[in-house]
Amino acid sequence: MTIIAELQALLGEAHVLEPSAGLERYTRDWSREIVGQPLAVVRPADTAEVAAVLRLCHERGVPVVAQGGNTGLVHGAIPSSDGRELVVSLERMNRVRAIDRVNFSLVAEAGCILQSVNDAAEAEDRFFPLSLGARGSCQIGGTISTNAGGINVLRWGMMRELVLGLEVVLPDGRIWNGLRQLRKDNTGYDLKQLFIGAEGTLGIVTAAALKLFPRPTQIETCLLAVPSAEAAMTLFAAARRDLSDLLSAFELLLRPCIDIVLRQQPAIHEPLATQAPAYVLLEASASGFVELRPLLERFLEQSMSAGLVLDGVVAESKAQSAALWRIREDLVEAQYQEAPRHLRTDISVPLSALPAFIAAADKALGEAMPGVQSLAYGHVGDGNVHYNVMPAPGTPEGEVADLMKQCETLLYALARKFEGSISAEHGIGRSKRTAFLDQLPAIDLMLMRMIKAGLDPDDLMAKSRLL
Ligand SMILES: Cc1cc2nc3c(=O)[nH]c(=O)nc-3n(C[C@H](O)[C@H](O)[C@H](O)COP(=O)(O)OP(=O)(O)OC[C@H]3O[C@@H](n4cnc5c(N)ncnc54)[C@H](O)[C@@H]3O)c2cc1C
Repeated sequence: MTIIAELQALLGEAHVLEPSAGLERYTRDWSREIVGQPLAVVRPADTAEVAAVLRLCHERGVPVVAQGGNTGLVHGAIPSSDGRELVVSLERMNRVRAIDRVNFSLVAEAGCILQSVNDAAEAEDRFFPLSLGARGSCQIGGTISTNAGGINVLRWGMMRELVLGLEVVLPDGRIWNGLRQLRKDNTGYDLKQLFIGAEGTLGIVTAAALKLFPRPTQIETCLLAVPSAEAAMTLFAAARRDLSDLLSAFELLLRPCIDIVLRQQPAIHEPLATQAPAYVLLEASASGFVELRPLLERFLEQSMSAGLVLDGVVAESKAQSAALWRIREDLVEAQYQEAPRHLRTDISVPLSALPAFIAAADKALGEAMPGVQSLAYGHVGDGNVHYNVMPAPGTPEGEVADLMKQCETLLYALARKFEGSISAEHGIGRSKRTAFLDQLPAIDLMLMRMIKAGLDPDDLMAKSRLL
C-alpha cells in the first residue's frame, strides 16, 4: 500500500489532497517569494487523526510540515520543493472548545483563525489581546508556533505570555495533554514553553488554553506627528508613566512609510495638516470606572507643550480609529506593490538604543548602497523595528536579490553590534536559517540540538527549518 493510500484509509479520500488536485494555496505563503511541492496535503479533523498521521509518517520516515494560515513571513510552512514533505493542514480543527468566564480562559483548537478567537472572547465580554495584521487568516497553532507578537505586546505580552496550556502531538504520534488552565503551576519543567516558538520542529500543536482579560470598554486611538525617532521614544516613556499603564499600542512610522502608503493606496489621504519626520500611532484602552479620555487629553497637552508632539488627531469613532490603523496595516501590502522584491527585516534592540540603531542603519546604508530607500516602522514600544529596504528605482531585476542580501548582512551586523535580535517576532523558518546559525553561540546550538534530538531523533518535523 502506498503512503497516500494509507493516509486515505486514515482520513478518508476527501482529506488527502494530491498534487494533481491544484494545491497552490498550500504551496506558497503570503510573500509569494518561493513555491514548494508537497507529497500531499492532509486535513485531519481532530487530535486523534493528527496522531494517526504522525504515527504513520514516523513508521515510514516521511518528513512532515505543519501548516496554519500560511501567513508566516519566513517561509516556514511552505513544503520543500523535492515533493517528499507531507503538509499537515490544521484548517479543519477550528472549534473553540470552551470558554470559562470566571477563570478568564478559553480553549481553542489549533486551526482556529485568530480573529475568530478574538470574536469568541468578545462575545463573552472578555478580551483575547493578540492582534496583528494577518489576524483574519493566521491560526492559533501558527501564532503559538511562531510566538507571534503584534500590536498589543507592550501591555499583554507575546503569545508565550498568553498561553496557559497546550495539547501537542509528538513526532512519533503520541499525544501530550498539557491543556491545564492554571495561573500558577510549578510542578517541574514548564513543557509547553518548548513548543511555543518551536516553528513546528518538535511536534504539532493541536489545541491551546489561552488567557483572557477584561474587555476594554474605552479605546482611544491617536496619530501623532513627532519631530524625530528620539522624540518618539521619549514620548513612549512618558506615555507609559502618565497613562497609568493603560497604553496598549505604540507604533512608529517614519515619514517615508506614510509616503509609500499614500502612493500605493489611493483610498488613504494625508492624515494630518503637518508633515513631520516621524509619526506615532498610539492606543490606550481601559475597562471599568477609569475615565480614559480626560487622561489622554491631559497627556497630549503636556506632550505638545514639551515639544514632543507637533500635531495630532484623536479618533472620534470606531471607523476613524480603523482608518488610522489602516495606514499602518496597509503599509505591508504597499511595499509589495511598490517593489515585489525588497528586504524585510524584523529587528529588535533595547528600547533605549532604538533611535541610535535607526540612525546608524541610515548612515551605513547611505554610504554603502546609495539610492536604496529605507522604510523604518514597527512596534517600537517593544524595541521592534521593521527596517525594510526597497531597491533604487530602475535597479536591473537580476541585481535586486544580491543587493538586498548585502543590505541584510549590513543590518544584521548592526543588530548584533546593538545587542539586538535578527528576529523579534517572525521566527527563523527557512529564510533566516543561515543568518541565525551564523550568529548562534555554540552552547545554544548544542542545547537546541539536544532538545530536537530528544523529541524528533529522525529529524522528520519541519526539516531544514530553524536548526
Ligand atoms: C500582513 C501581515 C502582518 C503580520 N504582522 C505580524 C505581526 O505584527 N507580528 C507577528 O508576530 N507576525 C506577523 N505576521 C506574521 C504571521 O502572521 C505570524 O507569523 C503568524 O503567527 C503565522 O500564523 P499562521 O497560522 O499563518 O502560520 P503559518 O504561516 O502557517 O506557519 C508558521 C510556522 O508555524 C508552524 N505551524 C503552523 N501551525 C502549526 C501547528 N499547529 N503546530 C506546529 N507548528 C505549526 C509552521 O510549520 C511554520 O513553521 C504578519 C503577517 C502578515 C502577512
